[in-house]
Amino acid sequence: MKSLTKVKVGNKLNSNNESFSYIKNSDVEIYNILQKEVSREDNTLELIASENFVSYPVLEMAGGVMTNKYAEGYPGARYYGGCEHVDEAENLARDRAKKLFNCEYVNVQPHSGSQANMAVLMTFLNVGDTIMGLDLAHGGHLTHGSHVNFSGKLYNSVSYYVNKDTGRVDFNSVRSTAKEYKPKLIICGGSAYPRHIEFEHFREIADEIGAFLMADIAHPSGLVAASLHPSPMKYCDIITTTTHKTLRGPRGGMIMMGKDIENKWGIVAPKSGRTKLVSELLDSTVMPGIQGGPLMHIIAAKAIAFNEALQPDFKVYAQQVIDNAKTMSEALLSKDYKLISGGTDTHVVLIDLSNKNVTGKVAEQSLEKAGITVNKNMVPFDKRSPFVTSGVRIGSPAITTRGMKQDEMVKIIDFIDEIITNIENESVIDKVKTEVQSLCSSFPLYSELHN
Ligand SMILES: *Cc1c(COP(=O)(O)O)cnc(C)c1O
Repeated sequence: MKSLTKVKVGNKLNSNNESFSYIKNSDVEIYNILQKEVSREDNTLELIASENFVSYPVLEMAGGVMTNKYAEGYPGARYYGGCEHVDEAENLARDRAKKLFNCEYVNVQPHSGSQANMAVLMTFLNVGDTIMGLDLAHGGHLTHGSHVNFSGKLYNSVSYYVNKDTGRVDFNSVRSTAKEYKPKLIICGGSAYPRHIEFEHFREIADEIGAFLMADIAHPSGLVAASLHPSPMKYCDIITTTTHKTLRGPRGGMIMMGKDIENKWGIVAPKSGRTKLVSELLDSTVMPGIQGGPLMHIIAAKAIAFNEALQPDFKVYAQQVIDNAKTMSEALLSKDYKLISGGTDTHVVLIDLSNKNVTGKVAEQSLEKAGITVNKNMVPFDKRSPFVTSGVRIGSPAITTRGMKQDEMVKIIDFIDEIITNIENESVIDKVKTEVQSLCSSFPLYSELHN
């Protein structure tokens, strides 16, 4: 795996070989904030499961001149002139995504994972229709029907749950809820689910009630791309993802279909009336339905990230992500931590801290003081509120990008355990913080971007 530090920045804007010199010379206020963030990312252990560190080429493209271009529409059919080069970039991004995920259709324009999901819901459903997703506290996502999100406000949302003993999706609950409420759309996937998504089981149930099946692979898409997590393409009608989590691209979203499907449901497209293919409907929901001009600099950066993910290196990276998460979960189990589902198949480990008499909130705060970034997280059947929680979620994608392997994972769990078992003990926090910084300095991040 290419370490980030070995990929040359080559930013031609820098005349004096100094990073961000234009910002420095024009706006010192924001420059100082930026430098603090560069240092924070370098000097802390990033264990938030949804985060990663992009390569210099992705970073460079995301800061590139394509940010200037308006390109409403799609390649070859834009509302604006001067789109010949951004058309090439978007076509390249689409072609690479199709190759990476082995799919027939892709839309790379959604600004985020949530917008990708919104586009699907607005394509397939009328306001008031029923959707079914994994409950938020059981690992689902806001856009899967939470009452504080458009998905729960505009649609009638019902949830399925994980089994209390196994921590895995309870397919009895999926089936019985599906049969009772007849959702028009079933969503599988989540944000805090450590195990493989069992697309095949969801397909059976969707077929039993004639529902659409959407897979949201925002979290494991990098593992899917590396063929280290089952692919949803064969089983799910529509697949959405983010591009910035395990896939390690710029912040954004995307929609895919293994095979384009005929619009046999009589869904009416906003402008043209009835259309033949679902791809046309999805495209028109993304733009003009819910978005205006696409972020062409980000779409071009997605193209770069997809190409990186197509290289043999990326598979080595993704395997290491999984090996690292497994090593962390084994180390935690050996220290008597309770893990939801007893372990992981992916990059996510969800820890239930109830037996340690520490809340997720306090754990997050103390770990942050020591330079370890995690997020508090509800655990299934949590008795605490989402602002306090009984758990924390950790993940391996970002620290694996830095080059850390199993030995470092064992150290990191030792750090976490020291903090949790001496909760809010300032001298322990200080000691661990020094150790965290020393570990980080052995795996430098974005060293070319420091002043
Ligand atoms: C992260 C995530 C999203 C949303 O992505 P944003 O880019 O933050 O909008 C959607 N679904 C799932 C399952 C996620 O984990």
